[in-house]
Amino acid sequence: MKRTMGGTLAALAAFALAPVLAQRPQQPQKPQGPWMDKSLSPDRRAELAIEQMSLDEKILLVHGAGGFAQAGQRSNGGAGMISGIPRLGLPDLQLADSAVGVRAAAERGRYATLLPSSIAEAATWDAKLAFEYGALIGRELRDQQYNVSLGGGMDITREPRNGRNFEYLGEDPILAGKLGAQWVRGLQSQKVIGDVKHYAFNDQETGRNIGNVKLDKRAMRETDLLAFEIAVTEGDPGMVMCSYNKLNGDWACENGYLLNDVLKKVWGFKGFVLSDWGGTHSTTKAALAGLDNEEPGSQYFGDALKKAVESGEVPLARLNDMVHRIVRTEFAMGIVDDPPSGRVVDPFAGAETSQTIAEQGTVLLKNAGGQLPLNAATVKSIAVIGSHSDSGMLSGGGSAQVDPPGGGASRFGGSEVWFPSSPLKAIRARAPKAKVEYNDGADLAAAARLAKTSEIAIVFVNQPTSEGRDLPTLTLPDKQDDLVAAVAAANPRTIVVLETGGPAAMPWIDKVCAAIEAWYPGVKGADALARILFGDVNPSAKLPVSFAKSDADLPHPKVPGMDLLPPPGAGRGGRGRMPEFDIDYTEGLKVGYKWFEAEDKQPLFAFGEGLSYTTFAYSGLKAGMESVSFTVRNTGKRAGAEIAQVYVGLPAEAKEPPKRLVAWEKIPLEPGESKTVTLKLEPKFLSIFNESKDDWELLKGSYRILVGGSSRNTPLNATVQR
Ligand code: BGC
Repeated sequence: MKRTMGGTLAALAAFALAPVLAQRPQQPQKPQGPWMDKSLSPDRRAELAIEQMSLDEKILLVHGAGGFAQAGQRSNGGAGMISGIPRLGLPDLQLADSAVGVRAAAERGRYATLLPSSIAEAATWDAKLAFEYGALIGRELRDQQYNVSLGGGMDITREPRNGRNFEYLGEDPILAGKLGAQWVRGLQSQKVIGDVKHYAFNDQETGRNIGNVKLDKRAMRETDLLAFEIAVTEGDPGMVMCSYNKLNGDWACENGYLLNDVLKKVWGFKGFVLSDWGGTHSTTKAALAGLDNEEPGSQYFGDALKKAVESGEVPLARLNDMVHRIVRTEFAMGIVDDPPSGRVVDPFAGAETSQTIAEQGTVLLKNAGGQLPLNAATVKSIAVIGSHSDSGMLSGGGSAQVDPPGGGASRFGGSEVWFPSSPLKAIRARAPKAKVEYNDGADLAAAARLAKTSEIAIVFVNQPTSEGRDLPTLTLPDKQDDLVAAVAAANPRTIVVLETGGPAAMPWIDKVCAAIEAWYPGVKGADALARILFGDVNPSAKLPVSFAKSDADLPHPKVPGMDLLPPPGAGRGGRGRMPEFDIDYTEGLKVGYKWFEAEDKQPLFAFGEGLSYTTFAYSGLKAGMESVSFTVRNTGKRAGAEIAQVYVGLPAEAKEPPKRLVAWEKIPLEPGESKTVTLKLEPKFLSIFNESKDDWELLKGSYRILVGGSSRNTPLNATVQR
């Protein structure tokens, strides 16, 4: 398990330790007042504090003071700031984008760890790692004196070409919800206010500020909203960020169904709703629909809201509720009693966690003839080809972009950022006796020549994605398919490593012997990859998204609205330049694997798939409506872990897609070892949302219980009557 301190980490340490922490944001003096009594509940403390506030002070809390540029000296450099009330001991809220690590740290001479993308976190299927992921971000936010996170992306992969899929947790609402909840818990364990976003149905970037998503209540509640429901009820986030898009005719940030009816009334959310940046569209309508805070400025919730309260158009009680939600969250999360004091980020701890998550989130898709793992003692030569694999690995763009060590601050919408984690160096370090040579892949003939004279060829391919734009297609850009085909034709022992934000098409898959999905693997991505290639780590990750063979097999062969996009360069989401349009998600309930199964289409790789260097056998299913037990045995020669999955097919009358994931467990096993596990089934996960009753309903009838290693490989099955 020993890891050497490579060049990247050393550079990273120097970068982190050199700069002195820049300007410290103001901390209010601790006043003496009954609301500062820690023995009282957060709600009571909020009530007592609000009794002291003037109308102007209340208004100050329900809108942003702008980002770094507008908030000036008091801003800590994050995407937003909400003014505090120093005389009452309420601190300024310093909000930082932090989906996969703290954004824009370099702008203030600081360092932050880049974690593997959220989709890689989802590929671990591991609640404990999701907690650690969140806790690391929380710690580094605090170290940098932020007290609020703007991370927590939860929109499910309804549109596989969505440019933000790398920030989200895959296509299954239960998997995304459970992991999202632990992410938030981990983050808030560091006394930082957590967030889940973008609520809701911001499932594509094309026309995100314009598009009107159309879905019925049942499809909403059983898909994307189920993910949010689990994250909100189990994770208890302090904030929910409403999204840019419209939903069934109303902007998400003034949508009474989303905010008041479902989030606050049904799920009992106690925190506050803030708008995505520029996502507020009105004063009275938004306030009455349940929006609590406008970001990043005060166009609607500044003077306009004050006037609306004075005239009675927005009742004072509603303003008090908005303020109460914000202030009770500040007390509940500990940011008033224990404000962050500022420290240097520990890059070593960050790198270690980042590497562990990359190792556990990298998916082995294909391994024909057991080509992998490579044997460092016997391999003579390796060709490393394509995708800047001599110098780095890819990261995702937009507000989730973390600054690379030594690379300066990244810019929104700029070109892609490669983190200085070099696969070539990591492979050379792991196979010191082999001749390991690099070719950049620009000249196909040269790449093929190197592949031909090498024992093994590893081709790296990439799919850059970013907030603000979707992929036009699942096909890899820049004719990379031709590169893989040329290398595979020259060397039968070709391994492909994908650095993608989500699913990609692989027309060459039958011609290569192995394929590995590395996602955007974070600051230690290359080391994690080398440990998988050489078998120091036995891969255990499973896909949290389905991979289609081509765009034609998706519910929408083209991203809805993409034809209406203004030409490149028209800005984030094409705001104001695109006609309003409907995003009619006609697939409804059939998201991801549910689509492929219901439509009887074969995916390239199915949801839940992922190989190991060992094999597992399933037996002994005992199934009931409340729980399922079964045995998994490691039938190979290496220690490994299997993520065992339980799916349920509902009674035919339910008119549901053929099956849905309801439970899973990651089971570590020594060679020959077997374990029997019992997994609880939550009644809601076996239910349908009955629109006429406006509630969940567990139907009578026969339920098929299916257990196995992926959505399309379930060797155990049983029928249970209810
Ligand atoms: C993004 C949010 C982000 C915000 C602040 C918006 O454009 O959609 O995810 O938190 O900007 O940077």
